[in-house]
Amino acid sequence: MDERRRVIADGAVLTEGSRIAKIGKSSDLRHESRAEFEIDAKGMIILPGLVDTHVHLAQAMIRGCADDTSLIDWLQKFVWPLQGNYDAQDGKASAELCILEMLKSGTTTFLESLLHTRYGFDGIANSVETSGIRGILSKTVMGIPGYGTAGGIMHPGMVEDGETCLREVEGHFKRWNGRASGRIRVWYGARSLGGCSPELYRQISAGAEALKTGVTMHLNEVREDADYTKREFGKLPAEFMDEVGLVNSNVVYAHGVWLSEPEWKILGKKGATVAHCPSSNMKLGSGIAKVPEMIKAGVNIGLGCDGGPSNNSYDMIREMKLASLSQKARLLNPLVMDAETVLELATINGARAVGLDKEIGSVEVNKKADLTLISFKSPHLVPAYNPISHLVYAATGSDVDTVIIDGRIIMKNRAVMTLDEEKVIREANERGSKLLERAGITIKPKWECV
Ligand SMILES: [Zn+2]
Repeated sequence: MDERRRVIADGAVLTEGSRIAKIGKSSDLRHESRAEFEIDAKGMIILPGLVDTHVHLAQAMIRGCADDTSLIDWLQKFVWPLQGNYDAQDGKASAELCILEMLKSGTTTFLESLLHTRYGFDGIANSVETSGIRGILSKTVMGIPGYGTAGGIMHPGMVEDGETCLREVEGHFKRWNGRASGRIRVWYGARSLGGCSPELYRQISAGAEALKTGVTMHLNEVREDADYTKREFGKLPAEFMDEVGLVNSNVVYAHGVWLSEPEWKILGKKGATVAHCPSSNMKLGSGIAKVPEMIKAGVNIGLGCDGGPSNNSYDMIREMKLASLSQKARLLNPLVMDAETVLELATINGARAVGLDKEIGSVEVNKKADLTLISFKSPHLVPAYNPISHLVYAATGSDVDTVIIDGRIIMKNRAVMTLDEEKVIREANERGSKLLERAGITIKPKWECV
């Protein structure tokens, strides 16, 4: 993954401080430079760290709590009541669980989409700082306690006030944006259609422009999104978002399943990104986004794992396989979405989505040393004639061996150095059970438990 898309056999990367200093054949690099220490990557591939462009940190702890149910029930009966009972310690425990899972499956940068105040922004930002991951944290902005497409009323614990939200984003931005050597960024997380008035969307747009920061939002996840904006504003969803000043290169729209051709053109022309979440869209029966068509129309497409109740994992390597296979099945064409295109979605396109393509998303000299080393020694990856094919079609997140972020080794031999793995898992288990109890929700298999 460099500008020329070279695959370097017996390659090596030399890092200096937080950046990549040299790339080449290992014999040449050894000859030219003396490294302070070496990581033996024999039998592994070196990739740019993966970029997950749509993540809900707070949903890791409610993994598997809303399976095999419709989107409306999914939100109203399970996800909202559970998340509406979170406190700041739950938010932190879930974020650490999620970050641990992302690190262990090769994700080095993520875009969090909707952080409710009750999840505790400072605690979560602190976890990003100490874990060593690169994270863009979007604070929720909403003004209307509903979801236009569903006609549903939100759980009271999830409702927030527009003016307060805007003020909080500014506060978080001042306190956290650029912290941890620039690894933390703060964005606006606009609520889905029906959760904000046109005026509030305009305020978000103005705020993002003033702070020179980004905005992310769910758009056209379900067909009803288009019905809503047509009914309320006589426009398609992306046309409406354009009118309120929210279509530009600092905006990432999650899902985009039901975007139509005129909307692809608007997004493509203005440089907005769609975060494609194939697992979530298929599991919730939302549909399959028209990704090859959107790419052709010039839309930047990133890849996202979404959340614990919709995916139910945060493994970008597994997500890559589905991103490819779902399109081949939809279009009855095995030639679409080849492995190379999918790898671009998960790396450089994701970096572009979050405005960091000059810094991360590929292995190039002077870029940040955000690297993922994947072991190709297991039987399911042997023999390896085409590593890109194996990576997309055969590997899983648990093949990741080593993760480097900002030039710092975060995981080696699958051991994460920055988080106490046992403690993170124990806390998530304990807090998860208490949360279900508080929300009065029981999750069990449909089959009798004996
Ligand atoms: Zn989402």
